[in-house]
Amino acid sequence: MAELCFKALLFIFFNKHYKLVNIYKFSIAVYLRKQKTTIMKKFYFSISLILFTAVSLFSQDSDLYKEVISELNSKKYYGRGYYKNGDGKAASYIAKTFREVGAEAYNENYFQEFAFPVNVFQGKMKMSIDGMELLPAKDFVLREFSSGIKGEYDLYYLDTTNFDIELFKKEYEKEEVKNSAIVIDFSFFHQHGKELGFLYKSQTPAIILKWSEPLKFYKAYSSFIVPIGIVWVSPNFPDNAKSVKFNIENNMIDEHKTKNVVAFVEGSHAADSFYVFTAHYDHLGMMGKKVYFPGANDNASGVAMLVSLAEHYANPENQPKYSMLFVAVAGEETGLLGSKHFVENPIIPLNNIKYVLNFDMIADNSEDIYVEISDEGQKGLDLLNEINSVNSFFTELEQGELAGNSDHFSFAEKDVPAVFFMMKGDGWAIYHTPQDNFQSIDLNNYPKLFKLVQEFIINY
Ligand SMILES: [Zn+2]
Repeated sequence: MAELCFKALLFIFFNKHYKLVNIYKFSIAVYLRKQKTTIMKKFYFSISLILFTAVSLFSQDSDLYKEVISELNSKKYYGRGYYKNGDGKAASYIAKTFREVGAEAYNENYFQEFAFPVNVFQGKMKMSIDGMELLPAKDFVLREFSSGIKGEYDLYYLDTTNFDIELFKKEYEKEEVKNSAIVIDFSFFHQHGKELGFLYKSQTPAIILKWSEPLKFYKAYSSFIVPIGIVWVSPNFPDNAKSVKFNIENNMIDEHKTKNVVAFVEGSHAADSFYVFTAHYDHLGMMGKKVYFPGANDNASGVAMLVSLAEHYANPENQPKYSMLFVAVAGEETGLLGSKHFVENPIIPLNNIKYVLNFDMIADNSEDIYVEISDEGQKGLDLLNEINSVNSFFTELEQGELAGNSDHFSFAEKDVPAVFFMMKGDGWAIYHTPQDNFQSIDLNNYPKLFKLVQEFIINY
């Protein structure tokens, strides 16, 4: 209670003196960059810890951030995938919100359209074992390139302890084995992919792959399908069941039309030089007609950061020196397709981009923050590290190797300086499950990341 009162007092004081403190802080920062002495760093550190952290953590209004996540989390966007125009509705909402916070369209409207093929499962979704019904997205998920499957089949469990591919192939010649759904330990199947891969093209009705950990890795993207059913099941799947019954529909959409949403804030000094902020707004969509993936952390959180930054910089008081593009990207879960489309069809010359900042899964409770950079991004990361160590926002910026796991990668492939921010806390366990919803997110890291970015923009 005492702490609360103290914070409330600080809040009132620093809200009043926010600008003054900011100017003060900025001049110290400039001075420090010239001097770079340890003593000054320590001095700056203590001042900023008392003043700046207090300001930063209580002045950054998180209502808009929360509101955007909550909205995109809701059922009406159907997991921002391919069902009933879920991603299209999300795109309209994001464009409307950009307009409301004062960020303009860069071209004649906010949208950059493109299309891709995708295999979806948004019709019938039933699976039962010996008459016991399983729950979609909890007990089973479809592999992204699976066909739909209907019918009742015997189960055949592959013997993985005495596995011999030649013996299995002989066994497989029996009609009753060929016509059974085959249950295989998933990691075993993964290790023996070359030997067992023939099953994909066989007359086997389905392969059921059993996970040893909770199911969480439902991927929605595939531009092709195999002719049989491929089903992942949870560790609870029985070891000695007799039969399985399926009624699962798929639909190969040849051309799913979607769009990136792009907003713009003009810079005061060098309007043709840009910071580009990216976050994907699409998610995994539906599994069946009932279960949807809200994707609150992945990645309504990143979009909410984009909108909050747009609101801040669209305010004339905060007009940046360089221009800014806010790109809410579609088709990330389908293989970074939206960001690839953006860099292949750039609306500004890629050479005019000073830095790309990509946010993906940032409403989590980790104490550090995970980052990746492109080859050209080192200078930016050095600065981010400096700002972070002075302000102690995060325990560290934990750098991982550049990988094709989010949209910064598309820019990295075009040699654009870029950084990727992500948080790996408790939310990691429910990544790509329906539990990644508004109730599960953590909002405490938002003001820290916002301030880190704000300081970066001032000093880069
Ligand atoms: Zn994802």
